[in-house]
Amino acid sequence: MFHERKSGVAVHRSLAGGNAGDTYTGQAYGDDTICPVCNGLHPIFETQQVYEVARTIVDCIIGGPTMMVGVLRSNDGRYFAACSPANASDGYNAFIGAVTGTHKRFLPSLTIAGNIPDDGTRSRGGLPLNATFIRSCKVNGSPMAGRCAAPKLLHFAIKNLLPRPWVMSEVMYDPAGTSLAYRDYITAPSCSTCAVLLPYMVCPRKQHANLQEFTGLIRNQWGGW
Ligand SMILES: [Zn+2]
Ligand SMILES: [Zn+2]
Repeated sequence: MFHERKSGVAVHRSLAGGNAGDTYTGQAYGDDTICPVCNGLHPIFETQQVYEVARTIVDCIIGGPTMMVGVLRSNDGRYFAACSPANASDGYNAFIGAVTGTHKRFLPSLTIAGNIPDDGTRSRGGLPLNATFIRSCKVNGSPMAGRCAAPKLLHFAIKNLLPRPWVMSEVMYDPAGTSLAYRDYITAPSCSTCAVLLPYMVCPRKQHANLQEFTGLIRNQWGGW
């Protein structure tokens, strides 16, 4: 985190997508590292309302493994959700059960964002981020790059040109209560892999010199893996 994050501040009307009364929580995604492409910061803030939606989904999951649930709201007030388990896996099915089952009435209308395609994605600026590059963002001991909820949501938002700014939240579903770092119902910050990957994804720059160079740069910054 390289800048002061907004906390408890009312979401400005133009940023709220018509969601009156929403406030920033102080959490943000995509700003854990300075963007290696443009040296800027691209924070995507969490708000109380998106957090509540993510938490409600977690509340409604029955069975399935420990997973991350993410929710993104575009500036036209639409909600999108994703989970860390791959499409059609047991975990994914449990997540889908939560957002389509009897508890659906507690949730806004949600569009599901699934896996990032095998051939990769593009940054907000249009730079290709192929599968090899995405994999190279993995940091030891953290999840496979691109498997988390946040990059799935951002891939979807970028591909579908969802109106910005976006707000986002991730909450962990941890039925066994074994994860100390991400306790049930607590806002989950980016894992160390997403801390590397997300700034590339949300960078608006349309050009860069050499993606490999940037990969090397970020690898050095994190001490290699
Ligand atoms: Zn992650
Ligand atoms: Zn950038």
